[in-house]
Amino acid sequence: MPKKTADNMDLPPSLTAPRYMDIPTFMRTHLITDPAEFDIAIIGVPYDGAVTNRPGARHGPRELRNASSLMRTIHHVTRVNPYEVCRIGDGGDVHFTRVYEIEPSHTEITSYFANFHEAGVVPLAAGGDHSITFPILRAIVKNGPVGLIHIDAHTDTWDEFMGSRYSHGSPFRRGVEENLLDPQRTIQIGIRGAQTSSEGWDYSRDIGMRVIFIEEFNQLGVEAAIAEARRIVGDGPTYLSFDIDSLDPAYAPGTGTPEVGGLTSIQAQELLRGLRGLNLIGADVVEVAPAYDQTGNTALVGATMMYEILCLLAESVG
Ligand code: MN
Ligand code: MN
Repeated sequence: MPKKTADNMDLPPSLTAPRYMDIPTFMRTHLITDPAEFDIAIIGVPYDGAVTNRPGARHGPRELRNASSLMRTIHHVTRVNPYEVCRIGDGGDVHFTRVYEIEPSHTEITSYFANFHEAGVVPLAAGGDHSITFPILRAIVKNGPVGLIHIDAHTDTWDEFMGSRYSHGSPFRRGVEENLLDPQRTIQIGIRGAQTSSEGWDYSRDIGMRVIFIEEFNQLGVEAAIAEARRIVGDGPTYLSFDIDSLDPAYAPGTGTPEVGGLTSIQAQELLRGLRGLNLIGADVVEVAPAYDQTGNTALVGATMMYEILCLLAESVG
């Protein structure tokens, strides 16, 4: 297949029209009808049936689409314009038909993402609760386990909650068990907050993941944390998963499981910018829950993180 370029695609509407006009697709990109014509798809996953506490992330994709219309094109630090590097579109939302059942819903996520993966399209997902990452990995990891950069207040490696093994507290444990993730090439950054059991923290440590609690992050500083992340994942294929609750609720209150004492917005941006040049195969931003987002700032922060990640993906794919 010839290398795809952005040359033969119309400019995205964000470049040609006022940003407040038209139906708000992600970043005001084209809505994808044929995945074969795109390199990167931004896909909504409006599902929060697997939360352990406050629901609401099912409304994340719609608010992220709206807030993302504030995003422009050229990154002010890296000067990357992802739309010049890749053909980027809005892949629509996963269409759920059995929202009250976690495992069938996860199957629907996997088949939706597999459709894009089989067309050679790299996904940037907008959650949804964090349980969605596991079925996404099932769709896109086909040639042995991948590395993971996971930015979150929580390790999400707990085994079971209320009789389910597929809650938003478990995706990375399931990913290791299914040989989708290489724990030796996994780093978790920003971990904090009291738990009722240390089981998830212990699992991550014992299985060989590199876990940077927020105290260590603050001691290391952003640059050293970036170096550690790059050392852990190396050059191999790597997935990037960004839980908005990694940020302090001062910056991102609109989420189901907030934990105080987290990252600032600029720390998160600098952390992401430090990941340029890695071999990224996909990414997500999850757990934006607009009902708790009194000012809309969480959706803006989430959309901005998506833009930062989009720039990384474009360089990785393009
Ligand atoms: Mn999470
Ligand atoms: Mn979390």
